[in-house]
Amino acid sequence: MDNDIYDVIIIGGSYAGLSAAMQLARARCKVLIIDEGLRRNRFASHSHGFVTQDGVDPAVIAATARQQVLNYPTVQWISGRADSARRIENSGSADLAFEVAVAGTLHLSSRLLLATGVKDVLPEIKGLAERWGKSVFHCPYCHGYELNQGPIGVIAGSELSMHHGLMLPDWGPTTLLINEAFEPDIEQLAALDARRVIVERSPIGELTGHADIKLVDGRTLSFAGIFTLAPFELTSPIAEQLGLEMDRGPLGAIIKTDQLKETSMPGVFACGDVARMMASVALAVGDGNLAGAGVHRSLMFGTH
Ligand code: FAD
Ligand code: MG
Repeated sequence: MDNDIYDVIIIGGSYAGLSAAMQLARARCKVLIIDEGLRRNRFASHSHGFVTQDGVDPAVIAATARQQVLNYPTVQWISGRADSARRIENSGSADLAFEVAVAGTLHLSSRLLLATGVKDVLPEIKGLAERWGKSVFHCPYCHGYELNQGPIGVIAGSELSMHHGLMLPDWGPTTLLINEAFEPDIEQLAALDARRVIVERSPIGELTGHADIKLVDGRTLSFAGIFTLAPFELTSPIAEQLGLEMDRGPLGAIIKTDQLKETSMPGVFACGDVARMMASVALAVGDGNLAGAGVHRSLMFGTH
């Protein structure tokens, strides 16, 4: 048992969690951050689209944020995985209490903030996983520009890949590889044609080289980059353990929060990819900033 009682324990010390921690540290709150260092973008060597940090290694952005946050004396950091979290009923205190277990040690706090992110569930195509974040991506805004208007392959995962197919021509001449995931109807084919998208129906054998797609019919198509729409999952079962309400979207479920990022359980907050459908470093930082203020407000004035 850790003898300190923190104002807030933040699980997840990446962009969202650190941004929230900075708000709380600047209000001199006692903060414990628990982080196992598996950021969603750890496969990429450059992060784009976040002003002041465009093109910077995402690990450097996270490390700089961590250093700035740890400069505040009321912040503690544990490298490791939070295995479980629960609300302590009848804690004896008038205020709320939460207990978080890390490697067999229990840590106590008045508020809990989940900034645990999500993980992408990649299509099972040989050669795809090792190219994720390098020449295979999901976000055109993050990685489209650097392809220098070269040819782009979109690997369909379902009908939702129509979205990618119609978007990507703004970044380069696009081929939509159906790969037996769905069959576009006449209207969809007309929409793709209007954007000059080539539709390829031969199933995919494997990915090779930089971004070459070997089709089962023996042809190989070479691209500057490949996009695919991957469903996502929560990285940890803690939201489920707490019984938090979820918002379900077409690619996965996120934790439902109110305008100040409080979840369905009073005193438990969530921010970043785990609690918003649109994901980016800038949005995670903004969301964390909001959640930090939300947690502080709840510490001062009580929960809703
Ligand atoms: P994350 O950065 O995913 O961090 C979550 C943290 O919580 C991790 O450190 C994780 O280990 C930790 N954690 C989870 N569970 C536990 C637990 N139980 N105990 C302890 N720690 C835990 N966005 C951009 O803006 N620009 C880009 O160029 C860009 N490129 C991307 C490239 C790729 C390949 C991918 C997949 C995503 C990219 N993104 C990019 C999106 C970006 O990665 C996410 O939006 C961002 O990382 C979300 O930040 P977050 O803090 O919510 O979650
Ligand atoms: Mg998050």
